[in-house]
Amino acid sequence: MFGYGGRILTVDVTSGDQRVEEFDAGFARAYLGGNGFAAKLCYDRIPPGIDAFDPRNLVVFGTGPITDSVIPGNNRNCVAGKSPLNDLFFDSTFGGRFAGTQRHTGFDAIVITGAAAEPVYVLVDEQGARLQPARDLWGKPTLQTARAILDREGWESDVVSIGPAGERRARIAALAHYWKNREAFGARGGLAAVLGSKNVKAVVVRGGQKAQFARPDDLKALVNETREALKKGTYNLHVYGTPNLVKGINAIGGLGFFNNRLEHSPDAEQVGGERYKLEFHKKDTTCNKCPVACGKTFEVKAGEYAGTVWKMPEYETIYAFGPMLGNLDPASLIKAEELCDQLGLDTISMGVTIAFVLECLERGFLTEREVGVPVGWGNHQAVHRLVEMTARRDGEEYVLNGTKMFITNGSIADLVFIAARTDSTAKGSRGISIFAVEKDTPGFKASRALEKMGWHSSNTAELVLEDVRVPHENLIGEENQGFYYIMSNFQNERLAIMGQALGEAQRALELTVDHVKNRSAFGGPLWNKQTIRQRLALRQAEIDAGRQLTYHAAWLTEQGEDAVREVSEVKALVGEMVNRVLYDCVQFHGGMGFIAETAVERLYRDVRIASIGGGATEVMLDEVAKRL
Ligand SMILES: Cc1cc2nc3c(=O)[nH]c(=O)nc-3n(C[C@H](O)[C@H](O)[C@H](O)COP(=O)(O)OP(=O)(O)OC[C@H]3O[C@@H](n4cnc5c(N)ncnc54)[C@H](O)[C@@H]3O)c2cc1C
Ligand code: SF4
Repeated sequence: MFGYGGRILTVDVTSGDQRVEEFDAGFARAYLGGNGFAAKLCYDRIPPGIDAFDPRNLVVFGTGPITDSVIPGNNRNCVAGKSPLNDLFFDSTFGGRFAGTQRHTGFDAIVITGAAAEPVYVLVDEQGARLQPARDLWGKPTLQTARAILDREGWESDVVSIGPAGERRARIAALAHYWKNREAFGARGGLAAVLGSKNVKAVVVRGGQKAQFARPDDLKALVNETREALKKGTYNLHVYGTPNLVKGINAIGGLGFFNNRLEHSPDAEQVGGERYKLEFHKKDTTCNKCPVACGKTFEVKAGEYAGTVWKMPEYETIYAFGPMLGNLDPASLIKAEELCDQLGLDTISMGVTIAFVLECLERGFLTEREVGVPVGWGNHQAVHRLVEMTARRDGEEYVLNGTKMFITNGSIADLVFIAARTDSTAKGSRGISIFAVEKDTPGFKASRALEKMGWHSSNTAELVLEDVRVPHENLIGEENQGFYYIMSNFQNERLAIMGQALGEAQRALELTVDHVKNRSAFGGPLWNKQTIRQRLALRQAEIDAGRQLTYHAAWLTEQGEDAVREVSEVKALVGEMVNRVLYDCVQFHGGMGFIAETAVERLYRDVRIASIGGGATEVMLDEVAKRL
């Protein structure tokens, strides 16, 4: 089929499964263009009523029938899905070269669904998709991410990535694409936050399947006919880029100042196209195969932002970070562009949100303390700080409520780590996050130290949290990933408890051998009784076997193997076995074993937790059974 690759690729990042579907000309005509495909796929496949961060939401990258042709402006991608901003279908477009390279994979639409357990990037080539680990890229700014991936996958690939804002699910997060001749951002609608919720740091395309057109020579001739008109009609765009619009829009009273309180200012041209061209222009940039070259790289040569070399702020960015914030410093707008792009934030939504905040401050609806920094109209330095805070979600608080029994060292710890549900819509273990809570945080208390039958050397408490407010920076790792962190630590915890239990059993056995060799009854040392001697020998053999099994499971874990079955086996087997050992040790101590001053009496009580704490035997056996 001319104009199309003819295939749709769906990748489920939860499982890594993928599906390739072919479509026919009827489908292509009915749902024309990248956003036509995206709208149809979203409509058919996103279940009604789900949250935008539900793994079942989609992010669709779509191209259209002119992608990679000679038609100017053809290298624009559509990215679409259910938006976390308004819970509706949202599509955003971006230029550069990604669309053409996606076409070379032969997939007109790439559909991403599910949620990966660990950060990944999705690499798509003509064969399909592969999930590549991206933990090392998580937290990195967008440009650094793109370069790192291109170094790995080859510079003929194209990358679109999210920044820290998308990772933290800022609802105004943007996707960034850098190609050597043009940067581009799929910024609207917070779709980068949806990718972040899927743990997808980037989507990478690479391919060699050139697009085929029905009558390429005729198409070229047709485009040539319009070339002069295009050149003339886009002259100002070519020379100044979209900042050229500032002058005209201000003249008709359409430029908003001070959160749209004013519509016009005689000073607006301080941030207009002509000034930028004169003072900041470094070079023209363009999307692949577009003669308009409306993109520019700007360079700040003097003042506090000197040294900034970055993409030109588009008209909308100038509006949102400039007049809307009472700021006519052109260099500060280039800096704002860089900050938003690197952090992966939509410049328009970010700027107008701050404008609203500034008006709220002015009217007393918000205080500086609530905002987090002293800020006001024209204070671009503070505005930049707010951009960073938004991307990293500084100043946001979580409010924790609940109780937790049986916390080791709970009432003496200065710092506790709380696992709390942060996404009530997520199923089972998915919506849990971990927070560091300091003991003096208001609302937090260790309500009582619990009296226990054993383990008296350790403190065990019940914790109570009532409206405990913790800042975002106290979140450990990523939001909603807490259960996976706990799971990975469970293996260590279980092995450590078993190491402790084996040590206790070994000590008890040695004490018992010593005792029965010295204790004479019925005509000689108890050791002479075969039944006692042999039972202790059997228990020693069991301890030795349990120790080797523990070493083996620890070794597997150390090698990075999935050793859940082996660790669970150890926890179940050793946890029960040490109790049998201690039973016999107390038994062969006779009455002395029941007296509180003997060591075996204490070890008998201490070892009882081995088959309960860190996962009871029955629960462990179910883990083993699941893997049989
Ligand atoms: C001294 C001590 C210190 C602790 N320290 C900590 C700590 O620091 N942090 C922390 O988070 N927790 C801690 N715990 C909690 C500990 O991990 C749990 O007590 C343990 O995992 C058992 O859970 P539970 O008490 O909820 O038992 P329950 O879930 O109430 O189970 C009771 C019993 O029912 C049986 N059972 C349970 N589920 C199943 C099943 N699926 N199939 C068959 N049988 C089943 C088992 O025999 C189990 O022992 C501590 C506990 C103690 C006693
Ligand atoms: S260079 Fe400008 S006009 Fe050309 S496709 Fe890119 S954004 Fe559009």
